[in-house]
Amino acid sequence: MNFEASRAGALDKLNYFVENNLSEYSKLRNFDYGPENRSNISCLSPYITHGVINEKEVIKRSLDKYSFSKNEKFIQEVLWRTYWKGWLELRPNVWSDYLIELNKIREEFKDNRNYLNALEGKTNIECFNSWVSELKENNYLHNHTRMWFASIWIFTLELPWQLGAEFFLQHLYDGDAASNTLGWRWVAGVQTNGKHYLASEWNIKKFTNNRFSNIKLNENAPPKISNKTYSIIKQDFSNSTNLENKNLLVFDNNLSFEITDFQNLKFKKIFLISNKNENRFIKLSEKVVKFKALLINDQEQRLKAKSINCQVVDINEIENIDNCCGLYPTVGENLDYLNLNNLKVDFLYRTLDQYSWQYCNKGFFNFKNYIPKIISTFN
Ligand SMILES: Cc1cc2nc3c(=O)[nH]c(=O)nc-3n(C[C@H](O)[C@H](O)[C@H](O)COP(=O)(O)OP(=O)(O)OC[C@H]3O[C@@H](n4cnc5c(N)ncnc54)[C@H](O)[C@@H]3O)c2cc1C
Repeated sequence: MNFEASRAGALDKLNYFVENNLSEYSKLRNFDYGPENRSNISCLSPYITHGVINEKEVIKRSLDKYSFSKNEKFIQEVLWRTYWKGWLELRPNVWSDYLIELNKIREEFKDNRNYLNALEGKTNIECFNSWVSELKENNYLHNHTRMWFASIWIFTLELPWQLGAEFFLQHLYDGDAASNTLGWRWVAGVQTNGKHYLASEWNIKKFTNNRFSNIKLNENAPPKISNKTYSIIKQDFSNSTNLENKNLLVFDNNLSFEITDFQNLKFKKIFLISNKNENRFIKLSEKVVKFKALLINDQEQRLKAKSINCQVVDINEIENIDNCCGLYPTVGENLDYLNLNNLKVDFLYRTLDQYSWQYCNKGFFNFKNYIPKIISTFN
């Protein structure tokens, strides 16, 4: 698998997928044919997560090729991400509680042999071991495989979901606080209380084209139980108006300023914020750190080519930048850094998020009803 760290690479991938493979997406998307054959899915998540390409652009490109009804499944998947983001924005304590729990569980499990074996891919479950290598090598796993992986981690290896979610964030190129934390919570059965996802031998065999056999799993485990409930915290996602001649902070979730809603505003200077491991609670693998750095450099080059004044700076230099606003980094480690250091930044929210997040108060099935409305705002 190859994830070229550039917008040009992302656009090539998008165009190739739409022209050649989108038509079969809804039929074939659940199959994991292995890392050498990913043509049935888009593999765009590392780029969408970093804002190198955005949801609106991906959906519009798909609609240039096929009608909404032919594309519906793909569009729904792209907007699942927007939904998870909004869901977490309305309940940010789910993320902060996750980090608190993780801190405690890390200590409890630091010498646990089962946990260490799982991290090394040395369990007695062959498919799981193979996915551990794949994750570390390719920094990507197929969606169905993420579900099997998380399910085996939680229900067969009996490890805490919080540690599995950390392991994913360390290695995935598309690692994202919302999709990842909520994906793991969903598999465990604490996202939709009492509903968990149980991987089974027949399902793995079928959807991996029989690449694995003799898969002994706990196929009858009950869902995990959490007594925590999260009510919605009302948030104000409106943009400040006085922006001209301010400095703009761009975090690693918005690395294509030139396609944002704010592209026509004149900022004094754009600061591209690099957040390396020193200031992260979850330390990323070297490959993920490098991928992010390359994507930031690619954005810098594109801005410089347009003669836009910009500079890459480390996150701990924000305190020295005056008169600044910032593209909203969303719930996650960048926002945590700002909050922990009491750095007040006027945020700019994407129109897509402002519009969609109002529908994230309930479940995805409710959100789905608003998808045509959301898309109608694209033009
Ligand atoms: C336990 C678990 C952890 C996950 N962690 C992450 C994560 O950290 N970051 C991340 O981007 N996705 C995560 N996902 C969601 C999903 O697995 C990936 O987005 C998807 O596999 C990316 O591959 P693709 O680009 O080929 O997807 P495609 O099938 O081609 O879909 C197109 C786009 O839609 C979005 N999308 C698709 N499926 C989902 C989904 N189930 N949830 C949210 N968005 C989706 C992605 O942005 C994706 O690029 C996780 C899922 C699970 C079950």
